[in-house]
Amino acid sequence: MGQRGRNRPGGSARALSEAYDTALLDLDGVVYAGGEAIAYAVESLGTARDGGMHLAYVTNNALRTPAAVAAHLSELGVPAEPSDVITSAQAVARLIADQVPPGSRVLVIGGEGLRVALRERGLEPVESADDDPAAVVQGYGGPELPWGRFAEAAYAVARGVPWFASNTDLTIPSPRGIAPGNGAAVEVVRIATGAEPQVAGKPLPPMHRETILRTGAERPLVVGDRLDTDIEGAFNGGVDSLLVLTGVTDAARLLAAVPEHRPTYVDADLRGLLTGQPEVTGSVEAGFGCGGWTASVRGDAFVLDGEGGALDGLRALCAAAWTHAGDGSCALEAGKALARLGW
Ligand SMILES: [Mg+2]
Repeated sequence: MGQRGRNRPGGSARALSEAYDTALLDLDGVVYAGGEAIAYAVESLGTARDGGMHLAYVTNNALRTPAAVAAHLSELGVPAEPSDVITSAQAVARLIADQVPPGSRVLVIGGEGLRVALRERGLEPVESADDDPAAVVQGYGGPELPWGRFAEAAYAVARGVPWFASNTDLTIPSPRGIAPGNGAAVEVVRIATGAEPQVAGKPLPPMHRETILRTGAERPLVVGDRLDTDIEGAFNGGVDSLLVLTGVTDAARLLAAVPEHRPTYVDADLRGLLTGQPEVTGSVEAGFGCGGWTASVRGDAFVLDGEGGALDGLRALCAAAWTHAGDGSCALEAGKALARLGW
């Protein structure tokens, strides 16, 4: 299936959990939000697993260890082993190990997840720029990370020590609002040094490579809620993707997606794993059809005719928007069409 569907969502006669052997699931906004399971996630994942689909959890958050993430998932009712969890800490540890001598010291600005991942690759985490590190690595360190840690990183990076980042997500969602993420912490060191780090996390290839190496997936399906990490990571890896609307992406943002941000499939939530996906038919001239809807473009706005399920209407609108935008981002007026679908 590969790159199919970039100008319209793809169809699948079989349930996605049967058409793909492994789901590479993002966590926040897909499986849980603010520590609580998202609606339908627990039951849907249980059914997919009982049907033989392998479930793996892929997170850009480098703070927690795979064991801690697996314990949290199991508590929520999604049984998981540490080996089912792949973090950007693991991806960046492999990236560093590929470039420094075995047993090298690595200056860590981050949390326990990063230290465990470095030791797993035979590297020695150290705390000071004076410890003669062969590399510097930054991962999300949680709200208690002291400001002085950024100074340690800056001292070493300014001396020319190779600099790595687990991920560069600028923000991290919290129950109280949007907090600065590791990308913001990386900016602090960048401003102090003018240097550029090597980055491992989604949407970049080291994270995808780590995931495939650890899961052995042959027909993987990336499942995520973010266009610029999950879906773009799948695009970069040449892998099909399912966008669920339980996280940060809303319908309007999906319609405006540039080609590398367009998922293969879109569904409301993880129940989408258990069903087939309808074909979107049609053309610019005839309009794009899905379910009972036909979407077309008139002037600078979408026109949506017919009736049916809201998701089918959104899929038809995606085809109209993405075809209209070509390699760019669709700027058509979508408010009225989306209001008809209840968005
Ligand atoms: Mg997410």
